[in-house]
Order: sequence, then structure tokens, then C-alpha cells
Amino acid sequence: MAISKVLIANRGEIALRIILACKEMGLKTVAVHSEADRDALHVRYADHDVCIGPALSRQSYLSISSIIAAAEITGADAIHPGYGFLAENAHFAEIVGECGMTFIGPTPDAIRRMGDKAVARENAKKAGVPILPGSDGPVRSFDDAAAVAKEIGFPVILKASAGGGGRGMRICGGEADLQSAYETARSEAERAFGSADVYIEKYLERPRHIEIQVFGDRFGRIVSLGERECSIQRRHQKLIEESPSPVVTEELRKEMGDAAIRLCQSVGYENAGTIEFLYQDGRFYFMEMNTRIQVEHAVTEEVTGIDLVKEQIRVADGKPLSIPEGPFRLRGHAIEFRVNAEDPRTFAPNPGKLKEFHVPGGPGVRIDTAAYRDYVVPPHYDSMIAKLVVRGKDRLEAIARGRRALDLFIIEGVKTSIPLHRAILDDDRFIRGDISTRFMEEFEW
Ligand code: ADP
Repeated sequence: MAISKVLIANRGEIALRIILACKEMGLKTVAVHSEADRDALHVRYADHDVCIGPALSRQSYLSISSIIAAAEITGADAIHPGYGFLAENAHFAEIVGECGMTFIGPTPDAIRRMGDKAVARENAKKAGVPILPGSDGPVRSFDDAAAVAKEIGFPVILKASAGGGGRGMRICGGEADLQSAYETARSEAERAFGSADVYIEKYLERPRHIEIQVFGDRFGRIVSLGERECSIQRRHQKLIEESPSPVVTEELRKEMGDAAIRLCQSVGYENAGTIEFLYQDGRFYFMEMNTRIQVEHAVTEEVTGIDLVKEQIRVADGKPLSIPEGPFRLRGHAIEFRVNAEDPRTFAPNPGKLKEFHVPGGPGVRIDTAAYRDYVVPPHYDSMIAKLVVRGKDRLEAIARGRRALDLFIIEGVKTSIPLHRAILDDDRFIRGDISTRFMEEFEW
């Protein structure tokens, strides 16, 4: 193996997850951290650690020059970006390569072709993947937006081309609101992403979010590893993910998987990626692609038995995919709960010291976390402090294990989403699998 030392340009549970994979592969690791993360576990577990700046992400985890310098100093020959921060930054991937290191992810070209949501939509269309009715690329003016909206019919959704993380989206129910929706969407997009470009798509009233995990290697082989359903969301951000989806049949899985593979082939995709679809009334539509490992990758690992992070490193190192030829079968059922340090009703972040932190165990329970007792959750970053992933022989066993694990998960000192997850697991509609992205809006507890 040419890769021998991996720098992890990230923090939290994903930094730890990558360190675990490296340890199993006999690779050395380098942790980078901000001043706020001196006591973080990823710093303790890595072979080397470098402080790359102050708490503010812009001056640390998003600082390309500091990260490259840290790699130089420690002799790292590969960089794993994790998710968030620089993971989908084509410029960063390019610089890593130019500095003679391996970027553990897709090529800069593939990131560019799929990173911009409006461009990705066009690519999907060209590859014969179904998309929702909408504009061809970003709309050029308000008149253009009005013409598209009129043609496809309200409600519509305006989305920032450069958007992500559930931000930069505006739903518009009728013509009267279009002008203000258009202007707000543009100015929000400009402020959050540095580009005011927005595109328009038909807004589905009751869709399910179903995504396909894909994996490609340098030899042109691309596989689909089945779906994850991520319909339980708050503010367009995922809270619970599961695999398989209660509505996906073997036939639909193949159809969605083939569509995802076609799209990846058309852009020469390699490494791990996710094609997100909306599904409603028996049909699915391309929404966007994430050109990185995702938070919810663990769900797929549990039902496929494949270590996706190790596979990422192998593929980046020029090895062929170690995944056997299909047909692929998902075994059992896995559900992931994002445990966030936040008020479970208002979703306001609630950082602070974890006075107590005890994780559950037992059959079918996996916890990915970088937290520990007396750890102080810093206010500067994402509020997710742990992922609880449960697995059972079927969905009902996974739900039962979820209830039992959530009951035994003790966190004191900050508010968390645990009580909300526990309440959802007692909900009849959730238990029946009768869910949509509107679930949380309608959920009462
Ligand atoms: P981001 O890149 O910010 O994650 P996405 O495009 O992936 O944004 O959309 C996030 C969520 O927003 C989806 O899971 C879904 O709940 C909602 N959404 C996006 N597009 C539509 C649409 N056309 N109709 C209905 N809901 C949508």
C-alpha cells in the first residue's frame, strides 16, 4: 500500500471513525484540531496531532493552508476529509493532489460536476435519471422564475445551486409569494454560499427521502449498496435514517440502484458517494448527490457488512473495490438515531459539559461518538454528539432494540434529542413505516 499515514481533516465522531479504519489497516494517523478541541478524543487517539488555529472553523478546519502545512510537517501522504468542512471542496481536493498527497474521495472534476446542485440536475437528466420538473439550470431573472413556476405549477421550491445542509431552500405556494421567495432565496444563497444562483423544482407535498449508497473504483467499476431512508427530518436535516426502506422492493432497489450507477458512470465517479432521491406515489426523482462519506453511512455498513471507510482508503490507494459481484442482499434492518446536544422541542443547540455520559451496549447496538464524561461540547460546531445505530433481524426487532438502547443511554448536563427519538419509536405511524419528510411537522408528543 502506498498510503502509510493519513491526516484527518475533521473532528468529532467521524474523525474517530476514520482513525478506527486506519488502525485496522495498520496506517498511521494525524489529527488536526482547533484550540477549542485540545481535549478531543480524536487528538488523543491519533499518532500525531497538530493545532491548526482558533475555534472558528474558518480559521481552523476550513483553513486549507493550515491543513496542508500540518500534513507537510507530519509527513502524511493522504488526507481524509470526513463529511462537512472541506469534504466537498473541489479546490481542496485539487491542492491535496498537487502537493503530492492522496485525497481520499472522488476526483476534483467529479466533485465539481456533482457539487453544484443545478449542474448535477442537468447531469442526471442527461444520464436518463428521472428529475422533478423545474428550471434548466439556475433561473436567470425573476421573469424566468415566474415562467418556470407557471409551467410546472405551484407549489415550487427554490434552491441555492451551491446549497447544502438543509439551508438555502424556500418553498413557494403561489404566484403572490414568488417575488419575495425569489429575492429571499437569492440573498440567503449569496450570504451563505457566496453565490446567489437559485434553481426551481416542483415541490412534492408528501415525499420520502430515499438515497442510494454508491461506490466506484479507478477501474471503472461502480456498485450500488442499497438504499437508506432518511424521511425523519427536522428543518430539512436528517434525524433518523434506516436501511432497508420499508417501501423499497427488490425491484425498486434495482431500478434506483441502476439509475444511480448510470449517473456515476456518466461523470467517471470513484470512491464513496450518495445519490439522493425523493420518492412519492411509486416514482422516484433525483434530488442531489453528496460526493463524500455521509453521517448515515453506518446504517449501510450494518446491513451490508462492508466497512465503507476502509473501502474508501483502499480505492483511493488505487486498489479495486473489494466488494464481491452482486446480486447484493441487505441483511436484517438497521436504524440510526442522531443524538444532538439540543433542545428536543425547539432544536436550539445546547452545548456544555457532559456531567454524565454512559452508552448502552448489548446485541445489535453500535455507538459512534467522540464524547465522554466531563467532555465539554463546544458551541462552535455541529451539535451532533453521538450516533446510535441499532440492528435487528427485521425492522420491529431493530425498533425494540432502539427503545431499549435509548432508555439506557444516559447523558446529563446538556439537553439531547434522546427523548424525541424515544417518543418517535412509540408512534404508530413510525412503527408501520408510514412516514414522509412531513413526519416531524405533524408529530405530537
Ligand atoms: P441539502 O443539500 O441542503 O441537504 P436537499 O436538496 O438534499 O438539500 O434537500 C433536503 C430536504 O429538503 C429533502 O430531504 C426534502 O425533505 C426537502 N426537499 C428538497 N427538495 C424538495 C422537493 N422538490 N419537494 C419536497 N421536498 C423537498
